Parts: sequence; C-alpha cells; structure tokens
Amino acid sequence: MEERIKKIKSNEIGNGKYILYWMQESQRTRYNFALEEAIRISNQKQQPLYVVFNLMSNYPQAQKRHFEFMLQGLKNVEYNLERKKIRFILLEGNFKENILKISKEASVVVWDKSYLKFQIENKKIILNEIECDVYEVESNVLVPVEVVSMKEEYSAKTFRDKYNRIKDKYIVRIEEEKYSVEYPLKDKLNEMNRSDRYLPKNFEVLDGGFIGGEDEALKRLENFLELKLKFYLEKGPDNEKYSKLSPYLHFGNISPLQICMKVIESSKFTECQESFLEELLIRRELAINFVYYNKNYDKWDGITYGWAYETLKKHLLDKRDYIYSQEKLEACDTHDKYWNSCQSQMVETGYMDGYMRMYWCKKILEWSETPQRAYEIAIDLNNKYFYDGRDPSSYTGVAWCFGKHDRAWKERAIFGKVRYMNSNGLERKFEMETYVKKYGR
Ligand SMILES: Cc1cc2nc3c(=O)[nH]c(=O)nc-3n(C[C@H](O)[C@H](O)[C@H](O)COP(=O)(O)OP(=O)(O)OC[C@H]3O[C@@H](n4cnc5c(N)ncnc54)[C@H](O)[C@@H]3O)c2cc1C
Repeated sequence: MEERIKKIKSNEIGNGKYILYWMQESQRTRYNFALEEAIRISNQKQQPLYVVFNLMSNYPQAQKRHFEFMLQGLKNVEYNLERKKIRFILLEGNFKENILKISKEASVVVWDKSYLKFQIENKKIILNEIECDVYEVESNVLVPVEVVSMKEEYSAKTFRDKYNRIKDKYIVRIEEEKYSVEYPLKDKLNEMNRSDRYLPKNFEVLDGGFIGGEDEALKRLENFLELKLKFYLEKGPDNEKYSKLSPYLHFGNISPLQICMKVIESSKFTECQESFLEELLIRRELAINFVYYNKNYDKWDGITYGWAYETLKKHLLDKRDYIYSQEKLEACDTHDKYWNSCQSQMVETGYMDGYMRMYWCKKILEWSETPQRAYEIAIDLNNKYFYDGRDPSSYTGVAWCFGKHDRAWKERAIFGKVRYMNSNGLERKFEMETYVKKYGR
C-alpha cells in the first residue's frame, strides 16, 4: 500500500482549509487508493474533502465519443460520491490554471499517477508552482510501475519474471474509509462547480452499446465472469467471448485489482483465468512499463528494436501489391473484406477484439508506402476511433505490430523478419463470415 502513495511535495506552513483530490486517471469511487487516502487525510485533519475533475475540451486527440463516455462516467462518480456525502466539483478549461487556483487554500492535494507524457508534463508544471502538500497515488495497476522494474523491459518474459515474484503481495482487498467531515455552510468552492452544465441527465447507450461509468463496468465484469470467462481461450471476432473492459480500464472506471480479485474468486483456477490475467496484468502493465520508461513511445524512431528497423529498412523498396491512403483505409475501402469489416467495426462501435487489432495493424504495414507511414496511420486511427485509444496499450499494441516485445520470424517481403499475418489464419481459427455479416459494409 505504501508504495502506491508517495508524498511528492511538502509545505511546512500547512495552513490550508480543505483537502483536494484531483481525480483524472482513476474516474471511480471503488478500489480507488487515491480517494481512500484523501478521505483518510480529510478525516484526520477534520478538513472537508473536495473531489475535483478538470474537463479540457481540447484534450489531445479526444473525440466526441470519448467525451460522451467519460462524462457518463463522471456523472456516475458524482452520484456515488454524493452517497458517501463527498462533494464533486467539475471544472472546465486549462488544467494548470484551474488546479493552481483551486489548490490555493488547500492543505493537501492528492492526485493520480500518470504514465503518458502529456499527463506527466502537466503535473510537473503544476507541482513546480503548487504550494501545499501533494500526494501522488497509483491505483490503476496491480503492482506499481517502479516496483516491478526501474527500466524499460525487453519482453513479456523479462517483465513477467519480475512481476510474478511480487504480485501476490498486491492482491489485497481495499479497506474503505468512511468520510466524516461537514462542509462549511457558505461553500465558495462548490460555487465553482460546472457539473450541471456538462454532465448528462441520463445514461443513453452510446456507439457499440457502451455506457460509461463504474457501475456499468462492474455489471460488465460480473456478466463476463458468469457467461464468458470459461470460454476465454476460444475468444475471437465471431463470438465476443472477451470482456470489453478496455474502455473502462482506460478511463479508470474499474480497477485492475478489483477485476483480478473477482476473477480469482469466481471459480477454481483454470487456464481461462490464467490467460485472462496474463492479458490484464502482464500485457497491460508491460504496456505501462513501455510508455513510462521510453519517452519516445509515440515517435517512429523510438517504438521498436534495432533488428526490426533494420529488417524493415532492408525491405523498404519491396513491391507492394496494394497501397492505400489513410482516407481509403478510413473509408473501409480495400480489397480485403475482413479488413474492411474490422475497420468498420472500429468506426461504428469504437471497439475491436485483440486478434483483429493485430490483423488490422499488420495489414496497414503491408499496404502503406513505408513502415513509418503505416505507423502514423495506425496510431492516428487507433486513437481517433477506439474508446480505449490514447492509452499505454494503444502505443504498445501498435508498436508490437512493428516488432516491439516480439522476436524475429522467418524473413519475407515487406515485413522482413517482423511477424506477418494473413487471412488464412483468420479463416482457420474463426467463422469469419459471421463477422463480415455483422460489420461488413
Ligand atoms: C494494433 C493494436 C492496437 C491496440 N490498441 C489498444 C488500445 O488503443 N487500447 C487498449 O486498451 N488496448 C489496445 N490493444 C490491446 C488489446 O488488443 C486490447 O486491450 C483488447 O483487445 C481490449 O479488449 P477487451 O477488453 O475485450 O480484452 P480482453 O481480452 O477481455 O482482456 C482484458 C483486458 O486485458 C488487457 N489486455 C488484453 N490484451 C492486451 C494487450 N495485447 N496489451 C495490453 N493489454 C491487453 C486490456 O486491458 C483488456 O481490457 C491493442 C492491440 C493491438 C495489437
């Protein structure tokens, strides 16, 4: 628990009037170590707690779909905090100005740990100027990123070896603190709240059947455990036996610790559980390790290994049977009906299963003028359409298609030694016509 919480700034004067939890990456009230820590400090100091969220309409790469999902989740947070008698304040505009302004009279600010550059840089700027105590809390991984490893790990194997040695220590139920402080009668902070203006009045079903929020995330998890987990090894584009929890994990609507505990409790340990936990813990937290330690995770020159750049360069001038522009790809207009179907699933529903994501990205590599252009197109489409886009797993998933965390394979055209995928594999494994019927245009 202590390793999740770090005091990153101390103010000796300590004359603030309230506690702030600046919620950004962990948009939930359950299994949220930052919220629990903020409540604990607030009770101890007998100073009121405000949970603040800062809405930024020009957040990098965010689209209407992302905002709709997120605002539903925040409405859910507001409601669940109200039941704990804790006030939620939604601010709108520039992070720095808002957080600095609202923390002026705070004695302590608690915030979520970030992994992506943009988020880390914002917090660094605020930290330089903020005047109260600041605690940074890591709630969105099972094992804190720096506890697993202090460097970028080479592969899932090197990461897994370190992770498995320590993970059990972190699989513990969270003790919820009961909030016990009254708010002042004349509450100036509460007047800054813009939630009425931005939060939805009701929860309409969004593209792809998604509804944002922690209550929905929990419902989906229960449904997955009851009906799908036992078929997890057979999951594929034709059967939907996966969890579809990635949008909820991305917005912090659900904690990986809570998922992990429920999976372990759900039945006797099976291969399906093991396989699901490999994805949720090892693959997801390896992705966090990658973006945390590799500051060029989003630049073509920084995403993969020397051997992969070399082999792709060697095959740069290989003949490409098809070259598609980003516009053609985005319009689902290629010769390949499987690819068109997954692109159309992405555009229409904001989701695609893991196997199709690999196929989707490998084909962009095959059909682009250069690997670099392929990377740029893939990351752009990924982050524009997926609810779970702009995540550490977005950068790592796309980088994997260019050799990251993978090994060299048999050499072939265009790909060189980077792993190749073709549609025969899809047809062998899945009922592809079912998929095409559902999503093909
Ligand atoms: C080209 C490409 C792009 C990708 N883009 C994204 C993205 O934008 N956002 C994103 O969250 N994931 C991305 N992934 C990883 C993975 O495909 C998705 O996390 C997964 O398909 C989400 O569906 P699910 O929740 O139903 O997964 P499930 O199979 O139910 O798995 C449960 C959870 O485990 C995690 N997980 C599963 N597979 C992976 C993986 N390969 N890497 C990291 N975590 C994993 C996710 O958090 C997921 O929600 C990408 C993978 C590839 C190959």
